[in-house]
Amino acid sequence: MISPEDAKKKPTPTPDADSAELWRGLREGVLLLQHCGDCRHVQYYQQGMCRQCGSENLSHRAASGRGRVHSFSVVHRAPGPAFKDDTPYAVLLVDLEEGPRMISTYSGGGPDDVTFDMPVMLVCERIDDVTTLPRFRRA
Ligand SMILES: [Zn+2]
Repeated sequence: MISPEDAKKKPTPTPDADSAELWRGLREGVLLLQHCGDCRHVQYYQQGMCRQCGSENLSHRAASGRGRVHSFSVVHRAPGPAFKDDTPYAVLLVDLEEGPRMISTYSGGGPDDVTFDMPVMLVCERIDDVTTLPRFRRA
């Protein structure tokens, strides 16, 4: 069982061999996407092979950071004590300019600002020395 003290801390991602490069990039202010050298598929989230063709010929390139809100949902009831002060907040499904769709949260305003198809821009939010989270603001 989680202790009341730990319940007040937000969970942070644990980088693995596939995602270490993603988290390193975010610490430096860029969102890295994997580009397949064989079929040109672009993917997020990182993994060891191309989800389109199975190739391991992948390289990382920085995304432009530009995207559009495909869909969103407003969270009014915090999923745990750690998120209580954040509500209400918007969870976004963002279509990146390069193609991949990613889940994130809205930054820099209230959830009432968010609309479908709204242009957004990446914001790298530093949490601690290890973790920087990709979020989005209105472009
Ligand atoms: Zn491929």
